[in-house]
Amino acid sequence: MYILLMGPPGAGKGTQAEKLIEEYKIPHVSTGDMFRAAVKKGTELGKEAKKYMDAGTLVPDSVTIGIVRESLANPECAKGFILDGFPRTEDQAVALQKILVDLGIKLNGVVNIVVPDQELVSRVTGRRICKACGATYHVEYNPSKVEAMCDKCGGALYQRDDDKEETVKKRLEVYHSQTAPLIEYYKEQGVYKEINGLQAIDKVYRDVKSSLEGGN
Ligand code: ADP
Ligand code: AMP
Repeated sequence: MYILLMGPPGAGKGTQAEKLIEEYKIPHVSTGDMFRAAVKKGTELGKEAKKYMDAGTLVPDSVTIGIVRESLANPECAKGFILDGFPRTEDQAVALQKILVDLGIKLNGVVNIVVPDQELVSRVTGRRICKACGATYHVEYNPSKVEAMCDKCGGALYQRDDDKEETVKKRLEVYHSQTAPLIEYYKEQGVYKEINGLQAIDKVYRDVKSSLEGGN
């Protein structure tokens, strides 16, 4: 399964990716996760990416495209992957097309999780992530059983620096101006599916799966 998950910040891409990984046993290639890992390690890439992440803007294509090319060429990705958070610009989409042709891979589905902006702000500001395993929660919509502690591994939950309200609004603006136009690009390619992301997490997952397996 070669899957591309699309949708605005907070739509539920990471949440659905966690479930897809478990079911299909394929790697999760998330550019946001890769940048956060680099920031945590304090690498040059991390220092560069942090400036853009803190501002809610996009890391330049010249940096991002190379990282994805390298990840997808990894043997772990040969049998499938879930690409999440990439592409976010037209140049990234064109570059991805070339990377996939070079690797001889055809996407099974481009799944866009649709959620209106007014819902996204509360989703993103209430998001909490496990420091140890990366599992995603929401203080209200998907709380952990014990406050601030991960159900899966007992790790501490934290809030991302860029999940503050001011930054979320900028990220939504960037999404609408630079990323949303890619919907038309993928619609023309014929593998595009749209899912109603306002439903409960498990129902969204059922829809994602049936769209990938040819159910709708
Ligand atoms: P993305 O990866 O698209 O930015 P996430 O998967 O991290 O989004 O989800 C954003 C926040 O919304 C998280 O706190 C998550 O727990 C919550 N969430 C995800 N899907 C749903 C849903 N269907 N209904 C309510 N809350 C959701
Ligand atoms: P995400 O985890 O997908 O919400 O991404 C967090 C931040 O990482 C974004 O706001 C960007 O600053 C950066 N980022 C992630 N993916 C990309 C990408 N494909 N292109 C440019 N910047 C990205």
